[in-house]
Order: sequence, then C-alpha cells, then structure tokens
Amino acid sequence: MTRTVYVNGEYLPEGEATVSIFDRGFLMADAVYEVTSVLGGKLIDFDGHAVRLERSLKELDMQAPCSKEELLEIHRKLVELNGIEEGMIYLQVTRGSDGDRDFVFPSEDTKPTLVLFTQNKPGLANAPAAQEGIKVISIEDIRWGRRDIKTVQLLYPSMGKMMAKKAGADDAWMVEDGYVTEGTSNNAYFVKDGKIVTRPLSNDILHGITRKAVLRMAEEAQMEIEERLFTIEEAKDADEAFVTSASAFVMPVVEIDGATVGDGVPGRIAKRLREIYLDESMKAAI
Ligand code: PMP
Repeated sequence: MTRTVYVNGEYLPEGEATVSIFDRGFLMADAVYEVTSVLGGKLIDFDGHAVRLERSLKELDMQAPCSKEELLEIHRKLVELNGIEEGMIYLQVTRGSDGDRDFVFPSEDTKPTLVLFTQNKPGLANAPAAQEGIKVISIEDIRWGRRDIKTVQLLYPSMGKMMAKKAGADDAWMVEDGYVTEGTSNNAYFVKDGKIVTRPLSNDILHGITRKAVLRMAEEAQMEIEERLFTIEEAKDADEAFVTSASAFVMPVVEIDGATVGDGVPGRIAKRLREIYLDESMKAAI
C-alpha cells in the first residue's frame, strides 16, 4: 500500500508530495515538529502534542498553519487512509518559503508549510527492547540553548545516536556542566531507594509530553519523585534507570557507559510505569 501523506491542504501519495527548495525548513531548519503515537488506531495524548506545538510556534514567532481541531482531523484522516493500528504520526510546520534564501524572516503573509506523514510500526507497544532494556553512553551536550522548543535541528542528536551505535550501545544521554540533560530523543530518569529522579523543566531540555504524563501517573501511584540535576555517576550507581518518549513510552535502561545499572535487567518501577502508562494512555486515546 502506498503511503498517503499530507502537504499544505492535500492528501497525496508520498511520491507526489513536494515542498519548495526555498522552504526555510530545508534551508535553515526553521521548523518545528511533533510525533504522536497511534495505538489501537487511536491517537495517544493528541492534546499534549497540540499544546506543545502551539508553544513552539509562539516561541519562534511562527504562524500556526491551522486550528487544533483541523490538526486533529488531519491526524485521524491519515490514520484511516493508511490503516495504522500501531505507529506514529510525524508533523512538521516550517516558516514557509518566499521564493529565495534570506536570513531575515519572510513577510508576514508567507504561509507556513504543514507536512504530516504516518509511520506504520506494528508491535510498537510490545517492543522487544522493553523486555531487555537498552544500553546508553554519555556524550557532551553541545546543542543550542532553547531545547524546550521542538525544532527540527536534530543533527547533533542524530550524531549522538551514531556515536552510541558505534560504541555498541542503543542511545546516548547528554551531559552539560557535569549534569545529565536528556537522551538524544527522550527524557532521562534513574531510581534509587524507590525514589524517581529526573531533571527539572527549563530551557535546557524538551518538556516531554510522556514525561508529564508518566510523572503524573507515578504520583497517583504514590511513587516518590524528585526533580533535580543529577550526574552520570549517580545514574550508574542507581537501582534502575529509564527514558520516556512518545514512541518508546517508558523504556528501561540497563547499562550506562558500560556499567550495569542495578541487576542489569529492567527495573520494577520502570516496568510498572510502562504498564500504567500504556494502559492509561490507551484508555484516554482519541
Ligand atoms: N527530549 C528530546 C530531546 C526529544 O527529542 C524527545 C522526543 N521528542 C523527548 C525528550 C521526549 O518527548 P516526548 O515525550 O514528548 O516524546
């Protein structure tokens, strides 16, 4: 089945969808994005992603391409047209193109570009990695200072994943001034003596939609949470570690820089949080 994608008001076969070579998303990474998971043919936390998209656009003085209701309709239509049961929907908004290359933003009447496509991932919720846990390495965080805005400037996170792969690991945790910021595409946590520790929100990390939901659910389950800066050494020495993201949900981490975390298998709290998160989010999916 040929994938049907969405570009600026049209649903097209992927091979027929085009964006201008002058688009600022292409030339300047002047664009923001969201990734929403689909489970059981329904959208997980659509509202959270729509609200964060609104915030990213506002922070960059970028026009919204359409209303939240229209976005929901496009998401649903793509799920339906592509028969997605489990997978993701990628959405990108760019500042558009006024037909040339210029550092100065184009005039106000330049229309933003809106692109969405589906990624079919059968078995996403039962990923084998969640049974085994993943291995991470630490790398320096050399990204810009507004990581709270979900821009498409993903070259360094992409390089980080390649560094991890080369080192025989699955992912990388980034470290700045001695403290872990986040994973290349997820938020980072460790658990010690029953307490979940994660970095507090600021401009230094992405405000994960999954982070917010998981922390709320952990609190509801009477788990202890501490939002504070932490080091790689603390995480290595922890009882368990994990990451969260919209497409990995809650993913246990069993090795950090070659050191085994806890017993080297997914921890009790990470496994429990994954169960609760999947269960509750599927119930609330729209
Ligand atoms: N941090 C970074 C750098 C990310 O790219 C992501 C994934 N978008 C996350 C955290 C997790 O955010 P979310 O739970 O909203 O997917």
